[in-house]
Amino acid sequence: MKKEKVVVIGSGPAGLTAALYTARARLEPLIVSGTQLGGQISITNEVENYPGFPEGTTGPELVELMRKQAEVFGARTVIDEVTKVDFTKGSPFTLETHSETYEAEAVIVTAGASPKRLEVPGEENFIGRGVSFCATCDGFFFRDKDVVVVGGGDSAMEESIFLTRFAKEVKVIHRRDELRAGEALKQRAFANDKLDFVWDTVVEEIIGNGKVQSIKTRNLKTGEIEERPTDGVFIFIGHYPNSSLFEDQLEMDEAGYLLVDKRMMTSVPGVFAAGEIQDPVFRQIATSVGQGCAAAMMAERWLEERE
Ligand code: NAP
Repeated sequence: MKKEKVVVIGSGPAGLTAALYTARARLEPLIVSGTQLGGQISITNEVENYPGFPEGTTGPELVELMRKQAEVFGARTVIDEVTKVDFTKGSPFTLETHSETYEAEAVIVTAGASPKRLEVPGEENFIGRGVSFCATCDGFFFRDKDVVVVGGGDSAMEESIFLTRFAKEVKVIHRRDELRAGEALKQRAFANDKLDFVWDTVVEEIIGNGKVQSIKTRNLKTGEIEERPTDGVFIFIGHYPNSSLFEDQLEMDEAGYLLVDKRMMTSVPGVFAAGEIQDPVFRQIATSVGQGCAAAMMAERWLEERE
C-alpha cells in the first residue's frame, strides 16, 4: 500500500490544475491519469476560447503544457485507472488501481464525462469502423466520403463544421426542427455549403458489413423509415459523468453528477470534486480549471485544519 497526501483522479484540465495548486502547496500530489491521459480535451482539435492564446491552441498542446507545469512543482502522474475506492471509513481513503493500492489523506475527483451513446443496433459493433465520437481523431479517415452527424447542440455543430474539411458531404440528423446550438455556431453551420440538415429524425439502426454502409432513420413527424447510405456516423448527443465508481460512496444527482458544496467538497469530508464530473452546466476548459483550483485550495485547507 502506497501512502499519499493527495491523489487526483483524472488528468484533464480540472485535475491538472488541482495538481498544480496542491503541488505548489508542497503536497506532492499523485495524478492517476484515467483511461485518457489529458481527458476529453486531449482529443479536441481547436481551442479558441481558453484565455492566453490569441492565436488559439490545440487540446493536446494545452494539456501537455498543464501537465508539465504541475510536474515542475512536484506533481507525479501514473498512467493507470482507479478501479475501486473506499471512502466509507473517512480519511485516509483507500484507492485501488489496476496495479497498485493507495492510501490518500485527501482525494480530488476530476474523472470527467464521456460521450453518450445512441444505444441503437450496430452502434457498438461499428465503433472504430465508421462510428465515431471524435471528429478530431477520426475526421481524416473520411476524406471525400459522406458522413452523418447526430445531434443538434454546440458540439454537433462545431464537429460538423470541422468534418466539412475532409468529407464530401456532412448530413446533420437532428431529432427536432430547431438546433440547440448557440447563435454563432448555428449561423456558421447554416452558412456552410457542405452541411445539410435532416430534421425531426432519429437514427434507429447502423448497418454495414465490416464497416458502416448505411443508417436506418425514422421521421418523428411522418413516421417514414428510410435507409440512407453513409460511410461514417459521428455521434454528439451530450455526455454522462464518469461517476459509476463512486456509487454508494458519494452523493450524486439523478443524472450521476457528483454533488459538491461551495467549497467543492463532496458528501465525504476530505473528498473534493471538480470539472465535468460535477458540472452539467458550464463544461468549459476555463470553468474546469477554475473548479480544479478551488478544489485544490480547499483540500489544502482541509488537510491543514485537520492537523
Ligand atoms: P447538448 O447541448 O446537451 O446537446 C445534445 C444534442 O443532442 C441536442 O441537440 C439533443 O437534442 C441531442 N440528443 C440528445 N440525446 C439524443 C438522442 N438520444 N438521440 C438523438 N439526439 C439526441 O450537448 P453538447 O452539444 O455536447 O454540449 C454540452 C455543453 O457544452 C453545452 O452547454 C454546450 O453549450 C457546451 N459546449 C460549448 C461549445 C462552445 O462554446 N464552443 C462547444 C461544445 C460544447 P435536443 O436539442 O432535442 O435536446
